[in-house]
This record gives sequence, C-alpha cells and structure tokens, in this order.
Amino acid sequence: MTVPALPAPFRWDGHLVAVDLGDHHVRFTTRRGGVSRPPYDSLNLGRWTDDDPASVAANYAELAELLCVDFARLAMGLQVHGSEVQRRDEEPDAEDELLACDGQATHVEGVTCLVLTADCLPVALLCDGAVAMVHAGWRGLAEGVLDDGLRALRELGGRGAVIALIGPGAGGECYEVGDDLRARFATAERTLDLKAIAAEALRAGGVAEVHDVGLCTMCGRRDTTPLFFSHRRDGPRTGRQAGLAWLS
Ligand SMILES: [Zn+2]
Repeated sequence: MTVPALPAPFRWDGHLVAVDLGDHHVRFTTRRGGVSRPPYDSLNLGRWTDDDPASVAANYAELAELLCVDFARLAMGLQVHGSEVQRRDEEPDAEDELLACDGQATHVEGVTCLVLTADCLPVALLCDGAVAMVHAGWRGLAEGVLDDGLRALRELGGRGAVIALIGPGAGGECYEVGDDLRARFATAERTLDLKAIAAEALRAGGVAEVHDVGLCTMCGRRDTTPLFFSHRRDGPRTGRQAGLAWLS
C-alpha cells in the first residue's frame, strides 16, 4: 500500500508523520514499524490495551531509538476525555504517578510530550520556548481542552505566535454521530468534523497558523491492514498511535 502525499509542513519520516520547525519537533505514529501481533499490529503504543506488555515496551523502545529521544523523560498522563493539560516545568520522574489529563506541555528541552489516540485528534501546539501535545475528542473539544493547551504554553513562558498541527484522526466524512452530538455541536449533518471544530477553536484562541495533515484514521478496510488504529472501525480490541512533541 502506498502512503498518501502530505501537505507542508508535514512530511513522511519512514513510517512516521513528521514536522520539524526550528527546535520544535513533532511526530505522529502510524500502525507500521512495530512488533505487536494482530489485532494490535504493529506499532501499538497503548499501554492500557490487552496487547502483550512486552510488545508494547518493545514498540516504545524502537520508537525512542528511531527518534533519538530519551523516554525516561516521557511526559504522559491518564487520558480521561477532559479539558486539562499538564504543565511540565521540570523533567518527569518515571516513579511519579500519572495524572488524569488530556495533554502535556513543557518548556524543558528533551522532555517528550505524548498523547495516545485511535480516532480522537492529536494536536501539537508550538510557540517560541514551549510545546504541547493535546488529546482532543469531541468531549475534550466541547470542554475546551485546546484552550487549556494554549494557556499552558503561556504559563510555561511560551512567547509569540502559536502554530497548531492537527494529526491523524477521525475524518469529517467518516465520523458518524447521533442526535445528542448533533444537538451539542449545533449541526444537522450525519457526521461530525472534529478537525474543523478543532481548527475553529484554535483560531478563536488566537492561533496564527493551523495545519491539518488531512489523514483519517477511520478510512481503510479491516482486511487490508489500514495505516492507523481506529476504535470506531476496529472496536475495542485495537491499538493506539501516538502524537509526540518536544523541544531540542
Ligand atoms: Zn475516513
């Protein structure tokens, strides 16, 4: 299977979607390049899935080596579809308990902010001196998780214009919703366009540039090993891809 062309500033870096802007680095993983067996094949980074923990650990190790980052300084949380982004003004301690939050922000070089997704949007926020990676599904978007990500950048001393990068997630053509969500987001459409909702929230929050990679996690058939994990398409027994952002 060939991979789709990506709009600038996104590019392929092997099996990963990559953006490098100055000392800001962002990667969005796909299913490819890991060791997990079906239905978690192959680069499953979901630590709370029923995949073999040794496979997940091997996938993290492989990714760290590929990115030349130190996952001893990995910033992540327990995602709860809420609206809080964790501020990291020092290096994470591997012994620390993970907090319930839906994003990570830092101004510390070498600390890697990570969120896990399988249809929800991973959104990177970049500005001079700070970076964040946010997990944004419909609930988080409705509750303002992107606004908290923007606040986190400023609180950590981030300056200047913000660039937002919307990674692979459920596409507007594919993400079907019921009456409750149609009412909540004031739409009559059969589907909800999470990326458009995110882009609007980001612009309303003062973000200068919003870039959408334009990749849908739900597209692709189960029998042809799609490019991404999709909870909607594959059900609960599937893996998780990751969005990662760090400063060098
Ligand atoms: Zn799709």
